Amino acid sequence: MIMAGSVIVIGAGSAGMEVSGVLARSGVSVTLIEKTANTGGHVKNWHHLFPDHRDGADVVSYMGVRAGHKLVNILTGTEIRELSRKGGKFHATTEGGSELTGDAVVVATGFDLFDCSRKEEYGYGIYDNVHTSAELEEMFRAGRLTTASGKEPEKIGFVHCVGSRDEKVGNLYCSKLCCVTAVKQAIEVRKKLPRSKVFCFYMDMRMGGASYEELYREAQEEWGISFIRGKVSEAGEMIDHRIQVKVEDTLVGRPLKLELDMLFLMAGMEMSEAGARISRIAGLKTGENRFLLASDNHYGSNRGNVEGIFYAGSCTAPMNITETISHARAAATEVIDYLNGINLK
Ligand code: SF4
Repeated sequence: MIMAGSVIVIGAGSAGMEVSGVLARSGVSVTLIEKTANTGGHVKNWHHLFPDHRDGADVVSYMGVRAGHKLVNILTGTEIRELSRKGGKFHATTEGGSELTGDAVVVATGFDLFDCSRKEEYGYGIYDNVHTSAELEEMFRAGRLTTASGKEPEKIGFVHCVGSRDEKVGNLYCSKLCCVTAVKQAIEVRKKLPRSKVFCFYMDMRMGGASYEELYREAQEEWGISFIRGKVSEAGEMIDHRIQVKVEDTLVGRPLKLELDMLFLMAGMEMSEAGARISRIAGLKTGENRFLLASDNHYGSNRGNVEGIFYAGSCTAPMNITETISHARAAATEVIDYLNGINLK
């Protein structure tokens, strides 16, 4: 049904762009606000995606086409300072002082990656050869995977669950996507550096998506990647700048020490700063995991506690791209119902 109405969408990653495109094609005017200088969220920083090693740039260009509608007005470098509702309309003021109005609001502020320097025992930000999973994607994109001294690495390790399932940092949840990211990245390292030895240190392998388990099997059988069940207790720098990790192998029940040329930390997903900010400004409830709290776990995942404000994507929980896009489409459907006066609580 073609209809009128206007919506403010906050966040121009995959969820925000998808929800904007769907709404615009239904005749709704959208103001899509992005605090950074560019649209595309985290996906634009990813060289290849799991499970099919597809170019991240393909998805970014797909999203650009979806949101590239004349009814979508994209404002980058823009943040909301105030948001209130008067006379049935939402009124937003940006940090720059511009006034925006909308009949509804969609929050699509996504996630932030865990700051790995908070886990001091792994040496991120201290040792030159310890990096995050996001930095490895940058290296893949730049076509340069070398140690800090410019050498081709021979032994490479991946530490799972950094900032997730960890009481010490206050994140008890599983980020859901870092196991499969580690497997994908480990395979890519082996493809680029066929002489390398690659180790993944994990607590459990959580491969709960279509084709993820097959990718895990491929990593072991085709690429000879070693999966060691155990938590890395500590990483230290050796005199030659290699990294020594201490890990308890819980399958064979003995402690291990391994010297590696590079160590990559699989950073978990956290509620974004932008999401936390909008939750404060608009009075949106958050859950124990600090993500936005859905009104119902089964049928209300696009809605929270404020009527007329809807949620799209991983501002509510860790999601992969497929889930994010589906969640955004569902959010658009809910908004259209709401604009049509159908409000199923
Ligand atoms: S997906 Fe894997 S690495 Fe990520 S938090 Fe869950 S168990 Fe840990």
